[in-house]
Amino acid sequence: MRMVDLDIHTHSISSGHGTKDTVTDMIREAARRGLKTLGITEHGPATPGAPKPSYFRSLSAAPRRRFGINVLYGAEVNILEGGETDLGDDILSGLDLVIASMHAPPRKNKGTARQNTDDYLKVMKNRYVRILGHCDNTQFPVFYDEIVRGAAECSVIVEINESSLIQGGCHQISGIDTKENYMTLLSLCRQFRVPVLLSSDSHGLERIGSISEAEKLIVRSGFPGSLIVNRNPELLLT
Ligand SMILES: [Zn+2]
Ligand SMILES: [Zn+2]
Repeated sequence: MRMVDLDIHTHSISSGHGTKDTVTDMIREAARRGLKTLGITEHGPATPGAPKPSYFRSLSAAPRRRFGINVLYGAEVNILEGGETDLGDDILSGLDLVIASMHAPPRKNKGTARQNTDDYLKVMKNRYVRILGHCDNTQFPVFYDEIVRGAAECSVIVEINESSLIQGGCHQISGIDTKENYMTLLSLCRQFRVPVLLSSDSHGLERIGSISEAEKLIVRSGFPGSLIVNRNPELLLT
């Protein structure tokens, strides 16, 4: 299986920023590019302009097979200050996948590494959270060793986010390159046998399936293929 056959962190017009492309536009384009699985994970409701909880509830009725490919419907929930998510378990339980990420807004403060790490550790205890999104972000300092140990305990996957890595990436706050944060994460994930997911975080169809910078880090770090979700989608089920 090609690494790019699976891209499960993307956003449509429903996330309220960054694109006018619809879910249908995106699935059609993913199929055209030869992907086998596309995941659409709109921002949680605490992000300005994002859908309301009722949107996520209605996804249970959406078709999982369109234009000849598999479609997963999920959410990129916000990790709020204190480690709660901005969608309740009653809704998370009905989604195909849940990514938990830190964004500002809704987080008001940069926080200390202790506070941010504690919030990650708490959110991972939510049994519906399967993936930690872009925790390379220097806007929210963390203790990576504690996060990866927590991910190992809770069977959570760590994301390598292409949008962080491209030129002028959206998580490079103050222009700080976060590649070395990912190299640290990859080293720890290998040590503690934590799977990683490569994803585009494409807002709209433009960058669907684009993970080349993330792949370079995988090669540079010598990360084992057996722990890469894109090569072994069954890791999502464990
Ligand atoms: Zn995000
Ligand atoms: Zn995202």
